[in-house]
Amino acid sequence: MTKFKLGAKRPLIISGPCSAETREQTLETCVRLAETGVVDMLRAGVWKPRTSPGSFEGVGLKGLAWMAEAKRLTGLPVGVEVATAKHVESALEFEVDMVWIGARTTVSPFAVQEVADALKGSGVPVLIKNPMNPDIDLWAGAVKRFSAVGIPMDDIGLIHRGFSYFGQQRYRNAPMWPLAFEMRSRFPEMMMICDPSHMAGTTEYLFELSQAAADLRYDGLIIESHVCPSQALSDAKQQLIPGELERLVRSVNWRREAADDPEFVKALDLFRDQIDQIDAELFSLLGRRMKISEEIGRVKKANDVAILQSSRWGTIKDRILSQADELGLGRDFLNDVLEAIHLESINRQNSVMNF
Ligand code: PEP
Ligand code: MN
Repeated sequence: MTKFKLGAKRPLIISGPCSAETREQTLETCVRLAETGVVDMLRAGVWKPRTSPGSFEGVGLKGLAWMAEAKRLTGLPVGVEVATAKHVESALEFEVDMVWIGARTTVSPFAVQEVADALKGSGVPVLIKNPMNPDIDLWAGAVKRFSAVGIPMDDIGLIHRGFSYFGQQRYRNAPMWPLAFEMRSRFPEMMMICDPSHMAGTTEYLFELSQAAADLRYDGLIIESHVCPSQALSDAKQQLIPGELERLVRSVNWRREAADDPEFVKALDLFRDQIDQIDAELFSLLGRRMKISEEIGRVKKANDVAILQSSRWGTIKDRILSQADELGLGRDFLNDVLEAIHLESINRQNSVMNF
């Protein structure tokens, strides 16, 4: 088998069980995934960092032997999660082709440093998941730790698996796409792979997230698959059987980044001119609105009136939100925009009144 090289295939499709549980489950999942023809690399967790103690914590070394067997049977490269130097040593002994750092490990600079030191000089690529919390500097810091020990940048990749938050929303982990874009702009050459499984938390959102990743020019997907998801010892709700995984991967449309057909370029340029024009008007209006806020601040200061008059703001908000349908804008979006405008408006009044 030729040496696995990060970046040699885009999109890179990685799949396999959340956890290697038994030899049969691991091998059957991996062989069936290989038979789909859509999977480039196999994954499994053999050491599982769990949020709650007492959850299934992985089978350890046995799992590495099963993954090595899966590699022999399928001819596909394999990857496992590592969190300590000992994990790295064992993974290297079993000749894994890739290791990844889990979201609970990326948050810990000590652990990341330990893994980086152990991986140094091995030539094995590492994929770094985003940390649990939305902290780009921490994610970027992990990249720098691997690079600082001498691991070449093209042996380092990123996995965007979403960010943990308090409360119930659509996804188990919020994608917060703009944070991933920021990371991309810091490391423009680096492979960025999307992990819709850990974002979604359930299988029903896997397609929409995978398609979003394709539309946002991600370099691949890592999706969990299990021969019998309902019996899985970890992440049972988000795993697909190999046949479903194949259907999902085949249905994602990796559109072209650009086309040079002159009709297309003309149509696009026309729309882009319109957008640029509208943006110019939009922001010039916003600038004018903020100047008026400052005037209001001056009048309030002269009359010793407080900045925040919640009834007035409530009226503005209700009026605009009631026009959501007519404007063709979602209420959540309008709400976010209004909150941002209101905050800046208060800041402007505050700067006039208190400084
Ligand atoms: C996993 O990939 O199974 C895993 C534990 O993921 P994360 O670190 O993203 O939670
Ligand atoms: Mn998992």
